[in-house]
Amino acid sequence: MDEVMQLKTDLHRLTVELIGGCKYCSMISTNVEFRTPIYCTKFTGAIHPTCVDVNTCLACQEYKNH
Ligand code: SF4
Repeated sequence: MDEVMQLKTDLHRLTVELIGGCKYCSMISTNVEFRTPIYCTKFTGAIHPTCVDVNTCLACQEYKNH
């Protein structure tokens, strides 16, 4: 695996660990190439989740409220 792919895989794993527990996160795409893999229901509801990136979650910080 090349270094870029390794970094993407690591970032994806960290994303799942950090954001996966957020009560508004309904799914995280398994595609490590997808730039907005987090399906967030906070803003648009469970039926139409918003696809967001890690930076959005870091700014939002809702994932800290377990
Ligand atoms: S944007 Fe906020 S509410 Fe949505 S999944 Fe990320 S941390 Fe949770």
